[in-house]
Order: sequence, then structure tokens, then C-alpha cells
Amino acid sequence: MAIGIPKLTRLIPHGKILDTQKTDKKSYLSPIPFPVDRNPKYITFVTRKIIERKIMKKALVLLSGGLDSTTALYVAREQGFDELYAITFEYGQKHDKEIKAAKAVAKAAGVKEHKFVKIMLNQWDGCSLTDEKMDIHDGDINRTTIPDTYVPARNMVFLSVAASYADALDITDIFIGVSEVDYSGYVDCREEFIRSMEQTINLGTVLGAEKKQKITLHAPFMHMTKADEVRLGNRLGVDYSLTWTCYRGGKKPCGTCDSCLLRAKAFEEAGIKDPLSY
Ligand SMILES: [Zn+2]
Repeated sequence: MAIGIPKLTRLIPHGKILDTQKTDKKSYLSPIPFPVDRNPKYITFVTRKIIERKIMKKALVLLSGGLDSTTALYVAREQGFDELYAITFEYGQKHDKEIKAAKAVAKAAGVKEHKFVKIMLNQWDGCSLTDEKMDIHDGDINRTTIPDTYVPARNMVFLSVAASYADALDITDIFIGVSEVDYSGYVDCREEFIRSMEQTINLGTVLGAEKKQKITLHAPFMHMTKADEVRLGNRLGVDYSLTWTCYRGGKKPCGTCDSCLLRAKAFEEAGIKDPLSY
């Protein structure tokens, strides 16, 4: 009479119970117990994913579709951030030219994910960019007072939302195209504000306050003239024909608003022809 061999089961490290009579020693010791997982193609796929996860550097760019934010996107890429995210705000502008430009720019730059967030800052009055009762006046780049195109605390609102997105996706680097040089005097474009906001973001996100992964606000043009910015963007391959700068939403840029004047001055000083015709 044949002696029956007792059927044994053993718990292997990953928690699967296998019948030892049907499992050879090699497969028992293997951390991947199923034949399908030993498929060379599957292993190559997993290995590639692990490598990608290690080397892909993520950055989030506040992208308005204008000259500054578009150049900032390309600077991020130049600095080795190869997994780019963009966030664009619809805040009640009188036209959607910037939004369309942002879409085109993000597509051209190979952005992985582009979010559009509506925060209607036109619910309160006083800004000519959003208040239908107000006209957008011709610009004056020598003015020393803050113009009525200033959207109250816009960058503070935008950076707060961007920080939320970054916190959700574990992104530690946020780019914003603000500058203290050649700008319209907006208070939320100054370095003092950006540094303070960076500190606040690190205190108010899990990434910064709990995981201790410092979030950095990159403002690469803070102390750069717009002309130098255009030169840099040109070198990095920015297609400025895709961008929209004008405060007014005509078929062509008006050439006389503050934003158009600053742009024209930048291209002229840089010695580069603006691909947008006025
Ligand atoms: Zn204009």
C-alpha cells in the first residue's frame, strides 16, 4: 500500500499560499511566483517604469500663454525638468486669447498634464482686465503708479491653487514668470512676495510641512530684463508666435496697451523680430 504524502501548504513572503507539491524550489524562492510575471517583456516593462520614476523630474509651471510664462516653461525644461505640468487660470478675462495660446504652448512643449482652473476674480470691480464697465487704456511704461490692469492679489491666488496641485502630485518645483524688471509695478511680482509665498506654501502643504520635501518657487526672470528673457527664450526654441501678450483681445495685438509696449520694447532691445505682427 502506497504511503500517502501529506499535502503541505506554506505561506510565502508576499502572502500567497501555494501548494508545495505543485511548486518547485525555484518558484518558491522567487519574489515573483507566477509564470506570467517571469515573462521577460513584463520584467523589462517594470524595470523601465522604475527607471523612469527615478529619473523623471517633475515641475509645475503657471502658464498664462504670455511671453513670460511660456519662456519659464522652456527654462524649466532646460533645467532638467522633463515631466512638465502646467496650470492655466480663467479668472474672468475679457477675452480667451491667452487661454488658447496657453493650450498651444503646452502642446508644443510636450506638457504631460495641463489643468485649467476657473476662479472668477471678475466678481469684484476695479480691474480693467476683468471689469466690463472699464476700458483698457493705452499703456505708459514710464508710469510709476500701479495701473488699473492690476488684478488684486492675482499671483497670491494663483500660487495657492498651484501649491494645491503640486501637493497632490508631489511636485516640489513650481515655476512662475514674474519679474521686478520691465514690469507694470504689480506688487505680487516682487521677490519679497515670492519668497514669502514660498515659505507659506511650505508651511501649508503636506509635502513641505510633513514630508519635509521643500517646495521651491522658481522665478527665473525676477532680476532679468525682458530683452534678456526673449534672447534666452529664443535660444531655448520658444515659438513666440504661439503666445499672446496683449491685454485686449483683438485679432492682432493692439500695440498700444502696457503689455504690448513692454513686449515690443523687449524684442527691439533683444534685436529679435517678434513673430506676432501688430
Ligand atoms: Zn495690446
